[in-house]
Amino acid sequence: IFIPLLGLALAFYFYSAPENFNEEMLRGKRVIVTGASSGIGEQMAYHLARMEAHLLLTARTEAKLQKVVKRCLELGAASARYVSGSMEDTTFPEVVVKEAENTWGGLDVLILNHIGYSYFNYFNGDVGHVRKLLEVNFLSYVAMTVSALPMLKESEGSIVVVSSVAGKTAAPFSAPYSATKFALDGFFSSLRHEFIIEKVNVSITLCILGYIDTENAVRAVSHAIRDTPAPKEECALEIVKSGVLRRRELHYPSRAVGSLLLLRDIAPDFLDSLIRSSYKQ
Ligand code: NDP
Repeated sequence: IFIPLLGLALAFYFYSAPENFNEEMLRGKRVIVTGASSGIGEQMAYHLARMEAHLLLTARTEAKLQKVVKRCLELGAASARYVSGSMEDTTFPEVVVKEAENTWGGLDVLILNHIGYSYFNYFNGDVGHVRKLLEVNFLSYVAMTVSALPMLKESEGSIVVVSSVAGKTAAPFSAPYSATKFALDGFFSSLRHEFIIEKVNVSITLCILGYIDTENAVRAVSHAIRDTPAPKEECALEIVKSGVLRRRELHYPSRAVGSLLLLRDIAPDFLDSLIRSSYKQ
């Protein structure tokens, strides 16, 4: 039974293999990137600018966004603007989407990438912090999706959700963060089913990232983690590619994340002990 099943799986894979990425796929597309003032979001903005997309960037720090927008225009963006504000403010997700609607009258790609600050340590019992982090890292993603959906349905566009290995398999010292990332998987994977059932042609790409060399991540965990982080520029490009190719999930770096997910399914206790031993004592 294994051989015919394998044959069927391979036939299905090749039949449904997505087309190759081409930078022109982004030319003139209207894209929102959240968390675009630094790190992976900033790098995604630069790739999209080189590909001549229209950009609407958001984060809290206006001065940083101004610099990123200026650089995007130098790199060749079809247009670039920003709206600054905090996703802790429950009205802000709609403000961002309205800005896109008023400026462009439509939207092709929604890239949800921002995260709020969380500590890297034993869970300290602060429920208020978990609630606030859920608002920033999860509920604002839901709210932006709800506001943007009419435009995305119209353009048959894409939603890209940036998550983490911490949203597939938990590690110590990141309980609040991990909870928000697991929530993203549950919500957006359920929504993907519903889009397929209702023939809504809007793709959802969930990005499962390992350790990436952004300034904030390295500052937060380099004292405790032995791994070498992967480059944020390449990571950002892989996210953009996966979104435009309408892939279900991106695993980056692919080998490290792939092995982790395989071990999670076949030997979860062994994986947990490996994870614990990867932290410096
Ligand atoms: P950064 O900390 O570099 O960037 C976070 C972005 O979110 C910044 O633009 C920040 O700008 C913005 N932000 C922070 N707080 C708020 C807020 N309250 N409201 C609105 N925006 C806010 O993160 P990374 O680039 O490292 O991570 C990007 C994504 O990749 C995240 O979803 C993260 O979980 C994921 N990821 C990263 C990994 C890594 O190792 N780097 C590993 C796994 C996943 P400002 O402060 O100006 O608001």
